[in-house]
Amino acid sequence: MAGKVDLVFVKLGGSVITDKATPFTEREEGITRLGREIHSAHIHTGLRLLVGHGGGSYPHTLANQYRTHLGLVTEESPLGIALVQDAAARLNRIVVKALIKEGEKAVSIQPSSAAISKRGHIVSWNLRPIRLMLNLDLTPVPYGDVSMDLATGCSILSTEELFRYLGLKLKPRRVIVGSDVDGVYDRDPKKNSSAQKIPLITTENVNNVLPSLDGASNIDVTGGMRSKVLSLLELAKMTGVTCEILDISKPGNLEDSLNGKKGIGTIIRRT
Ligand code: ADP
Repeated sequence: MAGKVDLVFVKLGGSVITDKATPFTEREEGITRLGREIHSAHIHTGLRLLVGHGGGSYPHTLANQYRTHLGLVTEESPLGIALVQDAAARLNRIVVKALIKEGEKAVSIQPSSAAISKRGHIVSWNLRPIRLMLNLDLTPVPYGDVSMDLATGCSILSTEELFRYLGLKLKPRRVIVGSDVDGVYDRDPKKNSSAQKIPLITTENVNNVLPSLDGASNIDVTGGMRSKVLSLLELAKMTGVTCEILDISKPGNLEDSLNGKKGIGTIIRRT
């Protein structure tokens, strides 16, 4: 926790801030609106905020092409690392710029420069800069990025993996994961109009829920809804934090959630 003030993690899903069907296409209006909602809630609540975001059609297009998530698999892999890092950072600059424009004191945090992973899981990351930034009520903005990996050479870190590691160390009070679906369903709601929303996932029902979760349903190399749920449940188990996956493409949802409304989407907690 940052001092005595409650800390909240927010994720802006790659599916919301980019058009995943078209490489390198950000959704400018959506990013601006989310920046406005975040800033308004930040002022209203006085919380400390850390805002992560996914890569969507920026790094994932290249990560797929170079199979960066699988490690150093060809002679072209080092070039892939450079291109994925560049694409992820370009989207991050767009998000940070929009947040600053809406009034947030947003600061870019580049995971690939400081975090080391082993088989896709972060094993070390110097978080002192982030702690000091939070003490100043700055808004650190880390993002899905490539990583140097001790086992495979390179990997891809999803925002949920960043949150899992950051959450263990920084102990946020809540974790809000914004996507383009209303929460977790018993089937992919984009493919089944009769899919039913699962309002609560805990260690007790997760085994019934998991078979219904697809991995990546699009270009995303980090495993879609299934890996999201598993990373967040792991964090909830280790720290007791309550997480929620909700649709932030609907105007107002993120601001309401930051202002304390619960149950807009799917809640993930220990019990
Ligand atoms: P983001 O880029 O926002 O982090 P992803 O695209 O990785 O999100 O994951 C969200 C997508 O997961 C949704 O758009 C949805 O199509 C898909 N999905 C697959 N299975 C499910 C499920 N059981 N419940 C909800 N969404 C699902």
